[in-house]
Amino acid sequence: MPALMLLLALAGAAPADPLPLVDAASVVPGLQVELKYSTTDNFLGRDVYGDLAVCRLQAEAAEMLRAASEALRGARPDLRLRAYDCARPHSVQVAMWAIVEGTPQQGYVADPTSAVGSIHNYGCAIDLTVATAAGVPLDMGTPFDFFGNAAQPRHERAHLLDRILTGAQVANRLVLREAMVRAGFLPLEHEWWHFDCASGTEARRRYAKIP
Ligand SMILES: [Zn+2]
Repeated sequence: MPALMLLLALAGAAPADPLPLVDAASVVPGLQVELKYSTTDNFLGRDVYGDLAVCRLQAEAAEMLRAASEALRGARPDLRLRAYDCARPHSVQVAMWAIVEGTPQQGYVADPTSAVGSIHNYGCAIDLTVATAAGVPLDMGTPFDFFGNAAQPRHERAHLLDRILTGAQVANRLVLREAMVRAGFLPLEHEWWHFDCASGTEARRRYAKIP
């Protein structure tokens, strides 16, 4: 190993080259894929993914997703995981930031110039829900990318008491969360649909940003 590379490796620098991503649908039997950013049905109201309609993930993350799907189908054979967003190229992150910068939505998109950025940029995060085998998403109480308190798992208990969420809606979220957490994913406390395959520090150490 050349001296400079050895130094970088010892310093814990991010991997220089992105690892090849895998098509999660080829790893996870029955995975449903509906990339919202490849449609205009998203909070931006724009298709920022264009031709990208495949759920791509790091191989390790795809294997974890297979385990989550098996856990889900073990508990509920009638249900499937349904992916809304997977690996997000850094170039798309830049385009999304340009759309929201200076608007009230700025807080919902990771600044592409920040040290970590979005874990989606490393192919280590996935946004998803649970759907019937026929593709009908379960009622999670809010849509995907709903930017109010009702989408935040940390408020679920209070929202149950306040009747903002029903018991059935919270139970549906738990079906998703329990399958994902059992497979090793890390949930977010402010988005019911988002899960990371590793912490931000760990994702940056293991993977490079996808250009
Ligand atoms: Zn996400």
